[in-house]
Amino acid sequence: MTEERRTPERWKAEWADLYSEVVTSGLCTGCAGCIAACPHDVLGYDTVAGAYKPYHLEDELGPGGCSHGLRGCTSCTRACPRFRTWESEADTFMAGRERQPEEQAGMVRRVLLARATNHDFLAAGQDGGVVSAILLWCLEQGRIDAALVSQVEGDGGGWKAVPGVARTRDEVLAAAGSRYTYSANMLAYAPAVAAGAEKLALVGMGCQTSAPVVMKARKAGKVGRRLGLSIGLMCSKSFDDSIFEEFFEARYGIARADIVKINIKGVFQIWCRDGSYHEVPLKEGHAWTRDGCKACPDFAAEHADISTGGIGELEDWTLTVVRSEQGEEVIDEMVAAGALEVRPGEDDPGALALMRRLSTASRRRWPATAVAGPKLGVPPPKAASAGAAASGATTPAAVATSAAVATGQEPPSTAAPTLDAP
Ligand SMILES: Cc1cc2nc3c(=O)[nH]c(=O)nc-3n(C[C@H](O)[C@H](O)[C@H](O)COP(=O)(O)OP(=O)(O)OC[C@H]3O[C@@H](n4cnc5c(N)ncnc54)[C@H](O)[C@@H]3O)c2cc1C
Ligand code: SF4
Ligand code: SF4
Repeated sequence: MTEERRTPERWKAEWADLYSEVVTSGLCTGCAGCIAACPHDVLGYDTVAGAYKPYHLEDELGPGGCSHGLRGCTSCTRACPRFRTWESEADTFMAGRERQPEEQAGMVRRVLLARATNHDFLAAGQDGGVVSAILLWCLEQGRIDAALVSQVEGDGGGWKAVPGVARTRDEVLAAAGSRYTYSANMLAYAPAVAAGAEKLALVGMGCQTSAPVVMKARKAGKVGRRLGLSIGLMCSKSFDDSIFEEFFEARYGIARADIVKINIKGVFQIWCRDGSYHEVPLKEGHAWTRDGCKACPDFAAEHADISTGGIGELEDWTLTVVRSEQGEEVIDEMVAAGALEVRPGEDDPGALALMRRLSTASRRRWPATAVAGPKLGVPPPKAASAGAAASGATTPAAVATSAAVATGQEPPSTAAPTLDAP
């Protein structure tokens, strides 16, 4: 019997398809992958009034038309990690197989708790300083020439997160820590390449770190090839930049320029220059959720080489999920050289359970009208109490956290010591 041979279908999708199926459909996260991949530089990035979306710079065919697309250019759709069957393409490219329904937080090689051994990185990092330590290690070892990170505009006083390039220890350190507004780090691709970098690491939330894999799976060209390493940040949502003035300052009197650190652990934890500490209810900040996050199914940065998060009982340790061979190699090298201290993820079973539950909660946001992939294995929402019982939560804090995850609500601060989920 002769095996049936199928000619792969030619990829024809272009800007017009991306515009109607992703940019204007509610699926676009604003990751800027399409912009980095566009070989004709005709896509811009709209940050006005919290838009965070790509737009076409030429107007002769209207916002949804592209003359290069009509002539066969398909780079933007090849780069987009929300276009059509992006998730199963990325899964298959990374792991050589489709994901199983129980793999709600993506495919995993190893889960660790990790922290930088260098004091400066530990002190500057949001959690264990792992992301920054990895970037420095990869720069020093020549694995990368530059990293695409998020920096803070100006002298840092304004808390305005902007994409930037880090090539040195000081630049990596200056970028450490989390800003909970959006920074499309992929926009630093062009300046990094213009400055001569060829081997790049991308840091970003799942919406961003799926892009390099999708680019490689769909043969988007050298942009994907240059993005050799990606470090993911676990994420339930990010906020519009206007949250500083309209919420923190207007409602709680906390001026943007006074803030030195923000974390989210069931509440917004805010530390100020004068030494004061504030807890601001997370629920009240939901109105400033960025539109691009509202349909995002990826909490655990599932296509990064290494994903990192702050959920966990242990302060100053980063929950670290190793997903690729390359990621594993980097972590092993760093541990062997004493640059990273690690312990098994099982030391914090609550963090692992929470990662899975938050991943499922994010998957529930994926619209039923889009391709079914991200809904694979997602159970129907449970009643809050049933969810708590099923998760084995016994303490009031754990019950409240479990209930919060099941209902999509945030637990009160006293009940959520480990929930770093906006
Ligand atoms: C918007 C956002 C939401 C998050 N939500 C969660 C959550 O719900 N649960 C959870 O467990 N963890 C969450 N994290 C991840 C967590 O805050 C830490 O980033 C992670 O644990 C790594 O800590 P670290 O000390 O190892 O990293 P660090 O060494 O501090 O390095 C952090 C890196 O993140 C980059 N970065 C900072 N802010 C941004 C940004 N806004 N956009 C893109 N890149 C950025 C920096 O440039 C730096 O390279 C979130 C992070 C962000 C940015
Ligand atoms: S999700 Fe990213 S790649 Fe896709 S259209 Fe939006 S900005 Fe472009
Ligand atoms: S929820 Fe996080 S990962 Fe998802 S689109 Fe928003 S910022 Fe990106």
